[in-house]
Amino acid sequence: MDDISLILKALDFAAVRHKTQFRKGEDKSPYINHPIQVASLLANKAGEKDTVLIAAAILHDVVEDTVDGKKEKNKLIEIIRETFGEEVLSVTLEVTDDKRLSKKMRKRMQVEHAPGLSVKARKLKIADKTMNVHDITVNPPVKWGLERIRKYLDWSEKVVYGLRGVNPKLEAIFDETLQIGRAKYSGRH
Ligand code: ZN
Repeated sequence: MDDISLILKALDFAAVRHKTQFRKGEDKSPYINHPIQVASLLANKAGEKDTVLIAAAILHDVVEDTVDGKKEKNKLIEIIRETFGEEVLSVTLEVTDDKRLSKKMRKRMQVEHAPGLSVKARKLKIADKTMNVHDITVNPPVKWGLERIRKYLDWSEKVVYGLRGVNPKLEAIFDETLQIGRAKYSGRH
């Protein structure tokens, strides 16, 4: 499969998987907007043109957020392997949280595992965190209070700290995005 075909196939696949989901922000945008923005940030702002990385970026939340239970998860993993190849699958799985763990544990694991990820997974994760911080700044989740937002920003910074050293431009975009978020949510309220 050529590069454009693979990217379009990934977009089609992710759009169908996420078709009933929406982002947590108050504008309730379709979920697929998020993986598209992560992939676009990598390719168009951070100069990352690797097809495996871009396809994995498009697919990055499919395993974590569109299956219920181990059986369904394994089936989806097999489909991704057959359709997109072993490398796209492996980067996708590297950035997939284990949903059997508590939210608190998953957050801790992300910080601990960050430095050990592959270069591609580290780039993808920085782009993911950048877009999440951006979305929370521009479109905060309806039920999130100031404290929760601040904690999220602090946690994102910690995860990205362990991912650094893979793309200075991307890392600078994250820093800038975080700074904008901090500026909006700082101060005593
Ligand atoms: Zn994501």
